[in-house]
Amino acid sequence: MFDKILIANRGEIALRILRACKELGISTVAVHSTADADAMHVRLADESVCIGPPPSKDSYLNIPALLAACEITGADAVHPGYGFLSENARFAEILSDHNLHFIGPKAEHIRLMGDKIEAKKTAKRLGIPVVPGSDGAVTPDQDAMAIAKAIGFPVLVKAAAGGGGRGMKVAHTEADLQLALTTAANEAKSAFGDASVYLEKYLQKPRHIEIQVLGDGRGGAIHLGERDCSLQRRHQKVWEEGPSPVLDAAARAKIGNTVAKAMQELKYIGVGTIEFLYEDGEFYFIEMNTRIQVEHPVTEMITGIDLVLEQIRIAAGGDLPMTQDQVVINGHSIECRVNAENPVSFRPSPGKIQQYHPPGGLGVRIDSAVYQGYVIPPYYDSLVGKLIVHGKSRVECLMRLRRALDEMVVDGIETTLPLFRALVREPAIIDGDYHIHWLEQYLAGQKTD
Ligand code: ADP
Repeated sequence: MFDKILIANRGEIALRILRACKELGISTVAVHSTADADAMHVRLADESVCIGPPPSKDSYLNIPALLAACEITGADAVHPGYGFLSENARFAEILSDHNLHFIGPKAEHIRLMGDKIEAKKTAKRLGIPVVPGSDGAVTPDQDAMAIAKAIGFPVLVKAAAGGGGRGMKVAHTEADLQLALTTAANEAKSAFGDASVYLEKYLQKPRHIEIQVLGDGRGGAIHLGERDCSLQRRHQKVWEEGPSPVLDAAARAKIGNTVAKAMQELKYIGVGTIEFLYEDGEFYFIEMNTRIQVEHPVTEMITGIDLVLEQIRIAAGGDLPMTQDQVVINGHSIECRVNAENPVSFRPSPGKIQQYHPPGGLGVRIDSAVYQGYVIPPYYDSLVGKLIVHGKSRVECLMRLRRALDEMVVDGIETTLPLFRALVREPAIIDGDYHIHWLEQYLAGQKTD
């Protein structure tokens, strides 16, 4: 096992990792920018190192500073959390060159899945169903038009290097295609330094359903069921739940086993998520995330498995915590990402939290790094915290979520709490009858059938 882990992240996920380390008896090193000197993860860690000024590129993405922090403190492993350097294959290699352990998958797998075109080809080869589309990158010439016509409009132009919903453009008709191709390529070039784009059939009312996997790197892999993340705004997840209201045990086992088998073949190590769109009973692979995800607590609540703890144990050479037969899905869980944003305009609302009262009681979990008097800095993402609830059934879970949301107080800044309080009372949400465009249509006040 590792002796000392450096947590190369901030906010709630840094705290989440720190908690797992403490329970494993591993010492922790927090790193922070000058803007985060008062952060909770810094206060609770055994040691802390300031790694630079507020902008992420000078601090949380500053690889030399992180290496120096490992050197100074004698850390033997680095947990990257999500975002920042978590899916940077080069970072994993550099750490390994310095005899430091990267808590995550092999660099080759991060690289493979980071290129969406390669990821899709690999998924197809491993027997995972994919969205119909171009076999590789396309250029804005006749070739793209011919492929788009073959797929059938509407088509989605996606960036090979895409992430966070950027570099994606829909072409509803032939006339839209050229513009969609050039805009997506330009956006991808400036955001990711890679202009390659590919085409996919644009699915009209799919759900976003993702499968959580855990691999031991030696050919063992299990799946831990699904999370339904269909409630999104600008391709960003807002509300996640598991199990999905539309899957039964047989459908879950079928897709789960397909994915687990693929991960066994890859000899994948650690936690990973295979994301699908789901429409008319069919799954279509869109991408794989090779890191712990924001919404991982949903799976923890319904399986009882501490994913971050297992991720660390497995990185240190440990075995999978259980066999596939031993995985039991218990009850229902929902996570709400409460952001420091205006609930109508979604304008960020950084600033000081004057009053803070987190909800509690059976089946209520808050993953957050804020406290009363904490100042949310303007430099990073706007997550205040995640409210996660668990219940024996989806109905119980919804009622518990309703009362937990009503109890929660975050004053001094604007938050998206009012949006969640409305959503939990919406008939379509209560019925579990929603798709990936539902939330945007709801927000636009349109008809949502
Ligand atoms: P990113 O890496 O930028 O998050 P993804 O490929 O995971 O991109 O897609 C993000 C979201 O975009 C999906 O959850 C879904 O809402 C939407 N999306 C992606 N591909 C398609 C598609 N072929 N048809 C319709 N919507 C899609």
